[in-house]
Amino acid sequence: MRVPGRFYLSQELMGTLEEGAVTQLANIATLPGICKNSLAMPDIHWGYGFPIGGVGAFTMDEGVISPGGVGFDINCGVRLVATPLHRSDLKEVKTVLQQLYDIVPTGVGTKSCITASDRDLNRIMTEGARWTVDEGYGTERDLLWCEEQGCMEGADISHVSQKARKRGRPQCGTLGSGNHFLEIQCVEEIFDPEAAQAFGIEEGQICIMIHCGSRGLGHQVCTDHLKILEDASKKYHIPLADKQLACAPLKSPEGEAYLSAMACAANYAWANRQMITHLTREVFSRAFSLCAEEMPLVYDVTHNVAKIEEHMVDGKRTMLCVHRKGATRAFGPGTHDLPPGCDTIGQPVIIPGSMGSSSYLLKGTQGAMEKTFGSTCHGAGRVLSRSQAKKMATGESIQETLARNGITVLAPSGGSIAEEAPNAYKPSGEVVKVVHEAGISARVARLNPIGVIKG
Ligand code: 5GP
Ligand code: MN
Ligand code: MN
Repeated sequence: MRVPGRFYLSQELMGTLEEGAVTQLANIATLPGICKNSLAMPDIHWGYGFPIGGVGAFTMDEGVISPGGVGFDINCGVRLVATPLHRSDLKEVKTVLQQLYDIVPTGVGTKSCITASDRDLNRIMTEGARWTVDEGYGTERDLLWCEEQGCMEGADISHVSQKARKRGRPQCGTLGSGNHFLEIQCVEEIFDPEAAQAFGIEEGQICIMIHCGSRGLGHQVCTDHLKILEDASKKYHIPLADKQLACAPLKSPEGEAYLSAMACAANYAWANRQMITHLTREVFSRAFSLCAEEMPLVYDVTHNVAKIEEHMVDGKRTMLCVHRKGATRAFGPGTHDLPPGCDTIGQPVIIPGSMGSSSYLLKGTQGAMEKTFGSTCHGAGRVLSRSQAKKMATGESIQETLARNGITVLAPSGGSIAEEAPNAYKPSGEVVKVVHEAGISARVARLNPIGVIKG
């Protein structure tokens, strides 16, 4: 290891720590140009190459870029949409949920209501959420409340294969399968009234959380470039502790090609989440006579990406490539890319829990800037594999238990519910407590699920 690995955990979560994930944290620390520490958030669990919940920052001169530090679902992320509705306004949760389920394509390989033309796809990959808004599916304000305004610079479509394009064309505006979800939530508790006000959130309010990514396009970009970077690792004589850490120098043609293809996939994911936001608003507009402006975006975060950012290292401003793999940016007050009115507060951070437990809204902190390259956790994190979770209970029994607690779940199959059972995840409250107490983000609000659509 070139630097120490550091993870954030509590005594209560020690039992959830997998040896394989700790080895992966150590492996990151062997890569060239790694800066200060390899890091893991309390939602750490085993992933491809990097653990999920892993953060690695690399210097521009000596460092590398690794697709395993981003993940297959490039720019998988979460957004939160507010409504003016309160719990008592939502009497027919099942009806609204069914309407959402009917309009948002869900499950493996589903197709969107629009098939993007080749020209559209070029714009989606270079302009991100801007494309969706220009097509009439959103507001200008949506872009301001989105990390990077929903568009990553440096996208070069020439590094995206025909196969990736083919997979992406029919899928913009689809949720995908498994872990992805669309959830109606109620704000249960406010921890930080000033930040909650700045983010437009109050107790009792109904919100919608959307979790999805770049679908087949992102997956294919990752697959294609992993092959290229496996060869590049040999070409540049980078010793790999694990083949899954295939990488290339940031300043090599192969490294730059991956970064520019990754940006295309990241932009696709933002366009996708924006499209799903539009479909969601259509349902709420019809059901409650609301306009888009009455359902503003609280924020949109990406939790699978690598970004070039400036950070203070040993008292010097330094450009770094920060890999966040199942980790969320948590920029504190006074940093750049904060949404309007949040200069003294920090960026909104969205942390989903599970279909049966609380999700959280947090804010970025100075502590994150000092300790974790402005990063925090991305969710509760898995404790059971999908196959283990499936053995514990049937989808139907989970659905019934949740229904008794006032939570309606819709999914393409019982199996997909069983794989995503609340007990397949760590306790979200404990994970969030760790990042809050470590000072790498701070609690703003807690939201409980009411209606869940699983992919
Ligand atoms: P990932 O991106 O790693 O698949 O998932 C991110 C996080 O979402 C998970 O760690 C988990 O805490 C959370 N999550 C998974 N399923 C659901 C769900 O149905 N509802 C909510 N609110 N959170 C979920
Ligand atoms: Mn994903
Ligand atoms: Mn995700």
